[in-house]
Amino acid sequence: MRRLLAPIALYLFVLTLFFLKVVLSTHPLIVVSFAAFTVLYLLTLFFGVIDISTKVTDDQDSNAFQTSTIRLLETCPFLLPAFLTASMTLAATLILPPPTIERTIYFLSFFLFSLLAYLAEMVLVVDTMRRRSRIPDKLDQQRLQKAETELVREGGAHSRKKLLLINPVNQSMPGYSGSMNSRLQPLGLGIVAALTPSEFYVKLIDENLESFQYEEADLVGISALTSTVNRAYEIAAEYRKNNVSVVMGGIHASMMPDEALHHVDSVVIGEAESVWQDVTTDFLDGNLRKRYTGVRLPLENMVPPKRELFSSLYPGASVQTSRGCPLNCEFCSVTVFNGGEYRFRPIDEVLDELETIPNRDIFFVDDNLVGYGKHSRQRAKDLFRGMIERHLNKQWVCQASVNFGADEELLLLARESGCSLVLLGLESDDRQELIDMKKEINVQFDYDTILRNINRHGIGVFGAFIFGVETETAKSIWRKAKFICKKRIDVIQTTVLTPLPGTNFFRAAQEEDRLLYTDFPKDWERYNMTEYTYKIKGIGKEEFPSIFMKSVKRIFSKRTLSTKLFRTAIHTRDLRLGVISYIANLEVGRIWYKICSIVEDRLNR
Ligand code: SF4
Repeated sequence: MRRLLAPIALYLFVLTLFFLKVVLSTHPLIVVSFAAFTVLYLLTLFFGVIDISTKVTDDQDSNAFQTSTIRLLETCPFLLPAFLTASMTLAATLILPPPTIERTIYFLSFFLFSLLAYLAEMVLVVDTMRRRSRIPDKLDQQRLQKAETELVREGGAHSRKKLLLINPVNQSMPGYSGSMNSRLQPLGLGIVAALTPSEFYVKLIDENLESFQYEEADLVGISALTSTVNRAYEIAAEYRKNNVSVVMGGIHASMMPDEALHHVDSVVIGEAESVWQDVTTDFLDGNLRKRYTGVRLPLENMVPPKRELFSSLYPGASVQTSRGCPLNCEFCSVTVFNGGEYRFRPIDEVLDELETIPNRDIFFVDDNLVGYGKHSRQRAKDLFRGMIERHLNKQWVCQASVNFGADEELLLLARESGCSLVLLGLESDDRQELIDMKKEINVQFDYDTILRNINRHGIGVFGAFIFGVETETAKSIWRKAKFICKKRIDVIQTTVLTPLPGTNFFRAAQEEDRLLYTDFPKDWERYNMTEYTYKIKGIGKEEFPSIFMKSVKRIFSKRTLSTKLFRTAIHTRDLRLGVISYIANLEVGRIWYKICSIVEDRLNR
């Protein structure tokens, strides 16, 4: 807030200067121009936000150095308001009859003041950013140069092997990875990097941020989902052609190790922490095995990810406090991958890690931060209390189950510790659909009450819904779409139910011969949560895409999203959250429109 005081004071000063002049004026264009300035300038205060990140990588394990990045978010308002105010002012100057000298001077000075105000705010913001991001000064530069020279003299990176870690993206249907807000730091690869011995120099490429270009490496590690695995195989083939060993891990390789071994040299099955040292040692000894099976370790003393490898372009930092889920929903592979028991990190360790993270925005990647039982809820409260007591001043988003909204104390603590948005797996508004998905926990709560409680505490609801469930019909698709539009769903996520390897659902669909695309691995790219991939009992392959796409277009229509903007702002008493949710929805809508056009193209072929 302190950051905003100076711009607000400046704004009030400009406002006072013009006030008398404007109230005396009767011409509507003058009033409109003035109102535009007021509104747009205030918008800059909400959106004139900054993103700062500092990478300090001058440790012994890496040959990179400290870099600081100052970034105005994509929603940066400076240019648009300045442009609009300028055009309005100039238009008024030219159009108003007669263009007297006095009036022209008035408008030009008005225009000048508005630009000066923007400029002043920008200077203040950038100055704050510079101080916070610790841009290396001359001394720092000299120190870094010296360190670099020493490293080169000692052989440094050149004497070490290069490990290239890659997070691939589905090339034919990028889906949500096309959204800036959905880009999360690849924590798994960050942890693998942290566990890599000093004989290696590590580099990370995330295709969500930059497209992969072949570069030299001694060892390549790829983590892939089912929908991205073809791209992973493609990249692996390039390296294997050049006799570079490729190791693959992640959920898909863990569920389909035999398939993966046709495309890579070695597979890590399950969580990598317990076996990564073996992988690297065996590689250095020229003895890389085909399979490494990780065990699920307790999360005490968990190695934190090597965060300096993460680009500054992620919208926030990812943090994990627990793993596992006892619910084992039909469509989800979390339980089979991370286990059916919650494993918790000690609260103090999480808080210590949070203290080391410079980002203000945090995404807790736990599948359910508050769990289902009393014990896990109490732990979540302790975590939030710790964040408050240590004055961490973070703004965070998490995933949780609907019981998040049923505990008053938890909500109060969550808000006070900086929770802005909670992603709830609401999945459906229909009781039977929830039971079919084995998501019975949702049936125990009244959605309206839960959503109202969450909003009442100033927290937005990020509602995830699944279409294409087994009993889906045209009617149920419209009903669900209407529910999403009408209810307090501030940010919307829609996906299509997809049978993923390793889940009960995949097994059943395969046994019943209901999978539509079975030319694996080629067809895995269709299993991306946006396409019709199995025979749904209630609706056909021809009917589903058109009805679903129409409903998606309705959900993400400008009219629905604008209404949601105001509702969110009113329900949470937070205009900023309303606007942020609106922008997030616009972006997801844009992605869905793109997906729809790809699907339509395919259907028309
Ligand atoms: S969908 Fe959520 S609740 Fe269900 S098994 Fe997966 S993580 Fe657990």
